[in-house]
Amino acid sequence: ALAEGRLAAADLADEARRRATAAAALNAFISPDPRTPAPVAGPLAGIPFAQKDNFCTQGLRTTCASRMLEGFVPPYESAVGERLRAAGAVSIGKTNLDEFAMGSSNENSHYGVVRNPWDATRVPGGSSGGSAAAVAAGIVPFATGSDTGGSVRQPAAFCGVTGLKPTYGRVSRWGLVAYASSLDCPGVLARSAEDCAYVLGAIAGHDVRDATSADRPAEDYAGALDAPLAGLRIGTARPYFGAGVEDGVAATVRAALAEYERLGARLVEIDLPHAHLAIPAYYVIAPAEASSNLSRYDGVRFGHRCANPRSLEDLYTRSRAEGFGAEVRRRILIGTFALSAGYYDAYYLRAQKVRRLIAGDFDAAFAAVDLIAGPTAPTVAFGLGEKHADPLAMIAADINTVAVNLAGLPAVSIPAGFHAGLPVGLQLIAPAFAEARLLAAAHRFQ
Ligand code: GLN
Repeated sequence: ALAEGRLAAADLADEARRRATAAAALNAFISPDPRTPAPVAGPLAGIPFAQKDNFCTQGLRTTCASRMLEGFVPPYESAVGERLRAAGAVSIGKTNLDEFAMGSSNENSHYGVVRNPWDATRVPGGSSGGSAAAVAAGIVPFATGSDTGGSVRQPAAFCGVTGLKPTYGRVSRWGLVAYASSLDCPGVLARSAEDCAYVLGAIAGHDVRDATSADRPAEDYAGALDAPLAGLRIGTARPYFGAGVEDGVAATVRAALAEYERLGARLVEIDLPHAHLAIPAYYVIAPAEASSNLSRYDGVRFGHRCANPRSLEDLYTRSRAEGFGAEVRRRILIGTFALSAGYYDAYYLRAQKVRRLIAGDFDAAFAAVDLIAGPTAPTVAFGLGEKHADPLAMIAADINTVAVNLAGLPAVSIPAGFHAGLPVGLQLIAPAFAEARLLAAAHRFQ
């Protein structure tokens, strides 16, 4: 189902590599993947794909778009990469991203910005911007992404493709370079919910190497795609249509929801009373965990090392100052502050309590509805450089995606239509482990 055209499976990867070269101006890739796997007769046999460059690839450099990891060649493959290759898929390259997956526009990459295939003057979204652009430009039928606070769904929305963030624990994080471990989730960018279902079927499942991996088998997501919409209750979350959402975006999403109604679903207005607290809670918890995770880059064991260190302290500080970009340094400073003695209770602990309330909002809502819908992002893709100088404006645009990660839920962004000639994403959110329901509902619309 993933293979388009009439090319033989063996030719597909070559064709994808050719397209990647032809579309080099997008800057969607950091490294080609020259490894030629032995052919596997699995469910994804011969299907080319791209991997976000924060998934470790054995023998192939993995940069996280950071100067810090410029020369890092992992000795092992991520669980996601391993499973995809075991299913027969062929990795053709590593995609560009915001440094260590921190950002919403792909402008924080040491390897330069990625351009949106729909309009080269605009961002592709982030942090999985290279993966979204590679799928939108028709280079690969699917790509991996990671979603800590929207990094699969928001670039999917900006590039007009489908982006799936599974339930936390559904897909192993082993070999995905850690950003904020309690939020990080491997995900899929593809051209349709159907393709996401095939890929999820290949990557979902228990993995003892990830302590938070869920011990339950993968389901037949592709086999469940034809579940009827009739009677499905879709909650339209009032806060997701609130201030900051462009009129054209809200109208496009409402039109898509009206289509769902025509297809037999029932729309129910719901409230998520703590939705406005998701951004402040996320932007304390994510930097706090990041500051801890990124402490491993000390210039000693691996990663960038400064020249001629004068002392151990100098080695640490100069290696880190040189290796990390401005946004990563900002997050480390914020996170270290939030975790420090005397501030822990006021910031980190409080954010964790808010996180519980946000998860409780979803639990309460899912007593009355089967899915929750809203715009994935408040705007269409913005111009390169437009928000880069204003980190708070960039952060504010994550309003509709971050709560889902705080609650650990699965969600998908699907193309809902266009506003001002640019794609608009509709986000559907499901209860934990209801990926089959989520993908079926997305599929019916496509
Ligand atoms: N934009 C959010 C951030 O910068 C989300 C990133 C992500 O999901 N990796 O943290």
